[in-house]
Amino acid sequence: MTAGRPFIVAIDGPAGAGKSTVSRRVASRLGFAMVDTGAIYRTVALAATRRGIALDDDAALAVLLPELEIRFSPSPGGGQRVLLGEDDVSVEIRTPPISLGASKVSARPVVRAGLLDLQRRLACAPENRGAVLEGRDIGTVVFPDADAKFFLTASAEERARRRHAELGARGDASTYDEVLADQLRRDKDDSERAIAPLRPAADAQLVDTSGLPLDAVVDALVRELEARLSGDGRSEA
Ligand code: C5P
Repeated sequence: MTAGRPFIVAIDGPAGAGKSTVSRRVASRLGFAMVDTGAIYRTVALAATRRGIALDDDAALAVLLPELEIRFSPSPGGGQRVLLGEDDVSVEIRTPPISLGASKVSARPVVRAGLLDLQRRLACAPENRGAVLEGRDIGTVVFPDADAKFFLTASAEERARRRHAELGARGDASTYDEVLADQLRRDKDDSERAIAPLRPAADAQLVDTSGLPLDAVVDALVRELEARLSGDGRSEA
């Protein structure tokens, strides 16, 4: 633990490993804030696309970033809405073109550096007892001193099946093969990029969610985190 800031839980891993569901439920069970950092990269990709900025135009991205007001707010049906200024972009940032766009902007050092402060501020807001951050580099870069670090994985096929079902539920007509191809491409880009590549922190706990109901994963993480919280005296905070 680190004095003076909330209890930080880092949940990293590739697309479709179950991070979003697990992070959301763990945060809700512990009464922690939830910071979906992928949504932040997605919102940058959307904002750049709307303004006609090429996703590798570092100079234009550097000008754009400080102008963006990205926030999360509780959604009436549970979960969170993603706001860009006053505009609710929660649905628009989940489309396949914006997924690829997010992967592209996230490889630009200027974007990663520009978003560090926002991610840390959202997690460390004074009202937060703790925060769960979901992403790719939370345990390695954003909070290398996180109180708990998990790296979720699952087979590529299982991850694509989950993502395909999720997109289908939202009315997206992408086929399983398209989702798998798109995911393999994002995995490759995310793992091979020069800056903050997708990899587990040395002290992260690896959790393979293949074939496991996500509820079981949530229960295991909550048990472990509750034990640590009571161990460091924060449970009454
Ligand atoms: O997690 P999600 O699929 O919403 O993330 C979208 C993209 O944003 C990822 O493919 C990845 O390229 C990028 N990302 C990142 N670092 C993070 C979170 C997301 O590079 N911490």
